Formats: sequence, structure tokens, C-alpha cells
Amino acid sequence: MRKTKIICTIGPASESREVVGKMIDAGMNVARFNFSHSTYEEQKARMDIVKAVAEEKGKSVGLLLDTKGPEVRVGIFEGGRMEIEEGELFAFTKEADSSAPCEKKINISYPRLIDEWRKTGREVKERFEKDTPHIILADDGNMEFSVMEIGEEYILCRAERAGALSNRKSLNFPDYHVEMMYLSLKDEEDIKFGLSQGIQYVAASFVRCAEDVKDIRKFITRLGYSGIEIIAKIENQDGVDNLDEIIDVSDGIMVARGDMGVEIPYVKLPATQKTIIRRCAEKGKIVITATQMLESMITHARPTRAEISDVANAVYDNTTCVMLSGESAAGMYPVESVMALSGICREAEKNHHLKDKSEYKERDTKYPYMSVICHAVQSIVPEINARAIIAVSQGGSTIRELSRFRPEIPIVAIVTSEAVYKSLSAYYGVVPLMGERRDRPRDIIKQAREKAIDAGLVKKGDTVIVLFDNDIESRNGTNTMSIEVI
Ligand code: PEP
Repeated sequence: MRKTKIICTIGPASESREVVGKMIDAGMNVARFNFSHSTYEEQKARMDIVKAVAEEKGKSVGLLLDTKGPEVRVGIFEGGRMEIEEGELFAFTKEADSSAPCEKKINISYPRLIDEWRKTGREVKERFEKDTPHIILADDGNMEFSVMEIGEEYILCRAERAGALSNRKSLNFPDYHVEMMYLSLKDEEDIKFGLSQGIQYVAASFVRCAEDVKDIRKFITRLGYSGIEIIAKIENQDGVDNLDEIIDVSDGIMVARGDMGVEIPYVKLPATQKTIIRRCAEKGKIVITATQMLESMITHARPTRAEISDVANAVYDNTTCVMLSGESAAGMYPVESVMALSGICREAEKNHHLKDKSEYKERDTKYPYMSVICHAVQSIVPEINARAIIAVSQGGSTIRELSRFRPEIPIVAIVTSEAVYKSLSAYYGVVPLMGERRDRPRDIIKQAREKAIDAGLVKKGDTVIVLFDNDIESRNGTNTMSIEVI
């Protein structure tokens, strides 16, 4: 059984029932909906298909909404795009009709940036003259502009690399901290819409500090929802600098290598990825390694050798999830990409064990007994050669705590809530199964055994560990462990 979870972005290449069905069969655990693109109508249709097909197949597939975040984007060009030559002057303006001292220009989605930068106008000029200009990047870093001057209504730049800028492309400011409010009206509307459609995860783009995550959590709570997991996307220098405080207030982290590779010097990406994964493992949080994992499979049926190694190395480093973006959303081989990812992860897991589990000392303070039991189980598994840990859980805390140890055997989660069933889909090694509430220990264990057998996860003669709460009403969490022979 593969334990690393697979997240697939759903887009035009994967929005049909047929492709979604094949992707679930191939191993998709979570479907991602990128709200930087597409209308609500399109996203709803995709979400409905994923929900329906997952239900038909009896699979727990989580829904993840990825926010647009505080991005600065260019406006609309006549004809959709504009060719810009190397050395040419180009202006980013407040409005489409703003004045600028050059012919080629485009308005930006955050005009206040120009006022912000005007305050440091002299420094901009000086830096340009000294040949250390502020830089604006576009088109995934392929287009570079050096900032020459800030006017009342424009940022005047010189194009350092030729290229074509097209409608609504996002801009990156690697050496400038943009003072934008974190939660925009669009993000609020999008999250509200996603919650009404039953999402379990919000991936928060361009998180810069713990406050950004807290703002989203407050917003979700105000709307009356609970149990929604927030995945903070680390994709710029602020996020990297404030990593620890962000992990502490988030349910998980995404190593968003796309924007990160533009916002920070790309040579620093591998070490940054390793640090993020290690810190998340230590703190028992989900960590998603994302972007360009199998980029070549957008147009080819097989991954490159470098991509195979990249995916395997993320598994060796302890990632809990790997993610497909363009490969599954817009590529020619969405199903083959999931198959490739699944195969590489499964093979890598054979050679990968979390050796020193004692490193993970941080305990769940809400349910201390549960936390102690989950720690103790790790040393019992090899002693009795257990084949599965079956945990009966109400809110999923026991399952999350077990998952952080990356056990080599499946964690079978028996839950009674549909929302918890889906929200466990991104957790390493976890197989969520729907059960019914049982109160007497004998009945709880009986159901646990039957569900694990029916799912084909254990067979006659296997030894398993069953964890449960023998007094649900007291709300103290898991307090009982039973060793069972099937
Ligand atoms: C990324 O930048 O790597 C990422 C996952 O975010 P997005 O796809 O929204 O750009």
C-alpha cells in the first residue's frame, strides 16, 4: 500500500467523470481546485464530479481549495498579449489609461503598489544608476524588468529579457515587500463558496506570517465552519523567514516551489524544501511538496529521470503528500501522471523509514493520554509484528497523531463523520473507512476488525493493534489499546 498521498489539480484535462474515475483508481487522494483560474460554475461542476465519483467508488477523496492570495497581476492587453524586446521601456500603471513616459504599458491589479514605492522613489533611481535595480519578474521569472523610476501613476522599467506578457499574468517582486492586506474580498468570496461546496482543505497562497493564517481561520470560524484544515503555502522570502510561527498555527504546509523558485534565489530551493519538510515532520504537520514534480508529463507519457529522483527524494525526506499541477489540470497525460507518481512513491517508501521516532517529542496537549498511547504504539508494532493499526476516531486527532510517525504499516481510521472521513485523505499512511457508532468495547473492536478485513487490509492470522475511546461521553479521547489476532 502506498502511504504518501497524491494531490491532483483538476482542470480542463481532468474534469470529465471518466478521467476523474481513472485518476481515483490510479491513486488520487485529494482533488485541488485552483481559484486563481476558472469560474464558480466551472469549479462547482468539477467538485460535483469528484464528489460523485469518489462516493460511487467508496473512496475518501478530499477537496482542497487553493486561494489566489495577495498576488499582483497585470490587466488585459488588446489582443491578449504584448511582445516586449530586450532593452525596451515598459510601464506598469495604476489604470489602463494612466499616463506613462513610454509607449508600452499595462495596468496592475494593486495600484497602491505605485504609491507605496513612490515613498522610496529616490532609492529606486539610485539603485538603477548603481546597476543594482529593484527587479520585477513575470511569466514564471522568464521575463525580467529593472525598475528605473516611480511616477505618480506608473512604475517605469527597462525590459532585461525579451518575451511576451499576456493577460492577467502575475508579477513577482523578489526584493520588495508588498504591504497588501492578506485576505482579499475575492479570497473571502472564494473560501465562502468552497465551504458551501463541502471542501476540507484551504491552501492559503503567499502566506507571509502567522497572522495571515489566523485571519483565514477567524474568517472560516465566523462563517460557522469547524474542522477545515488550513495549508499555508510557503512561496516567498517572508514565508521562509517566518516558517516556524506559520507551521505552529497551520494544519499543514505546502512547499509551493513554483512561486518560491521565482521569489527566492532558485539555488536555495532544495535546502529550503528540506528544511520545511523536516520542521513539519518534527511538529507533526502535513507537508505537501508541490509544482513541476512531473512537469515533462504535460506533453510526454513518461517522466524524466530527474523528475523520478525529485519525487523519490521528497519521500525520503518525509513529505506526506506530493502534488500535480499542470500535469493533471492541463496536460496530455493526467492519469499516467498519477500512475507514475504513485509508482515512484511506493518504490521509494520501500527504502525509507523514519528512523528516529523519538525525535518527535511534541505532544498533543488537548488529548494527552491519546498522545502517549500513539507514541507507545510505535515501539509495540515491531515487537508483535503488527500488520495494521486500526484506530476508531471521532474527530480524527488520534489518526493525525499516529500519522506523524510515518508507521510502516497502514493506519486504518474508522470514523463516523463524512467530513472527518474526507479530511483524513491527506494524512500519510491513513486509510479512512466509514463506520457506525459503537459504545461497548467488544462491539467497537468487532467493527474495527470487520472493516479492516472487508477493505482487504488484513487477513486471518494477522496481528493488529486497535485503539479506541472506551468512554466517548467523557470526551477525553483515545484511552484504550487492544492487541488482536484476526
Ligand atoms: C506554486 O507556486 O508552486 C503553487 C503551488 O501555487 P500556484 O499553482 O497557485 O501558483
